[in-house]
Amino acid sequence: MHSVDGAIVPGTRRRGYNHIVSLIYLDNNSTTRVAPEVVAAMSPFWERQYGNPSSIHRAGQAARHAIEMAREQVAELIGAKSREIVFTSGGTEADNLAILGTLAAYPTKRHIITTSVEHVAVHSLCERLAGEGYRVSWLKVDEKGHLSLDQLEAELCDETALVSVMYANNETGVIFPIEKIAAVCGERGVPFHVDAVQVAGKLPIDVTRLGANLLSFSAHKIHGPKGAGALYVGRRTRLRNQLVGGHQERDLRPGTENVPAIVGFGEAAHLACERLKTDGWGRVAALRDELERGILAAVPFARVIGDASCRVPNTTNIAFEALEAEAILIALSELDVCASSGSACSSGSLEPSHVLKAMGIDERAAHGSIRFSLSTESTEEECRAAVEIVRRVVSRLAALQ
Ligand code: PLP
Repeated sequence: MHSVDGAIVPGTRRRGYNHIVSLIYLDNNSTTRVAPEVVAAMSPFWERQYGNPSSIHRAGQAARHAIEMAREQVAELIGAKSREIVFTSGGTEADNLAILGTLAAYPTKRHIITTSVEHVAVHSLCERLAGEGYRVSWLKVDEKGHLSLDQLEAELCDETALVSVMYANNETGVIFPIEKIAAVCGERGVPFHVDAVQVAGKLPIDVTRLGANLLSFSAHKIHGPKGAGALYVGRRTRLRNQLVGGHQERDLRPGTENVPAIVGFGEAAHLACERLKTDGWGRVAALRDELERGILAAVPFARVIGDASCRVPNTTNIAFEALEAEAILIALSELDVCASSGSACSSGSLEPSHVLKAMGIDERAAHGSIRFSLSTESTEEECRAAVEIVRRVVSRLAALQ
């Protein structure tokens, strides 16, 4: 069984932070366990190879070399050239750089098109930009989570500076038709940004076929460290730096590089590439389907949110009508099952997520929706145990209604 043995986690049943537990970890869209190979790859860059990559001496050049190796590994994950990869502090920063950097590169254009279901890294930024005078068109989605290409075409105009659409939704896993959107944007000559944080490493990506100008990634979603990410900036894409300082990352992201994290990201990307060559994700999809079937069979009022036939392989979002997601999550956590409601960033709030609202999911279902997200480390035993624990928790909470 994959468990977080030896992990030091905040206790719920037991007080304190220092007891050892086994977790059934089904919250991999929030973050993933750092792979041991990644830890091993990073370690020398704290202890021995601590040079500044901008320094001319040997220690600095060793760090520079390690960063350039990592750049190649990350580029390979998406079929890009290494010079098209800009390292950032994570997915949020990559999204911000893509959007703000494009707007700054096209100062006379004041129109942005995005969807109503983006991660807050894009959603909240676009809301702020709307408050600052930009016109933002929010593409609608239907109850399955799909958007309309007709609406996209109707919204595009000469004023449009950028289209930003996520590859797959972090809450439901539903995949958007990125190649088709790229074709529409390409025809109109409008830059296209894709938040690919939830797809990189789970599905093969080839930027040469995809046709997008900018793609965001995050290391900690692919068994890499937190605090590292990247923005793919395709050739001839205009982008202005948002931080001002040194010349790192071709001036696009100044500041001394986080060498250990970047090295870890590179190793994680390499492992992800290798995993994509095996049927690891096919097994995950089968496990996810089994988990879903088990829960639906055990809980008559449960239903799947989003188009089950068009999702990333590891995600299912299940609504337990009339129950509160927070209550379910706390009870699951007491029994050592980790899941989440909506995006991790919005959990803790009683408001249903903007994603489920935009999908038109009714309030009773939206309030009781739980996301289970697996990884290639998830096991059959874990999923079977999780079904039984969910059944117990949900029937106990339903009896209290
Ligand atoms: N975009 C999506 C779709 C995400 O799921 C996340 C994280 O959950 C992010 C962006 C933000 O990435 P990071 O946590 O690396 O800032």
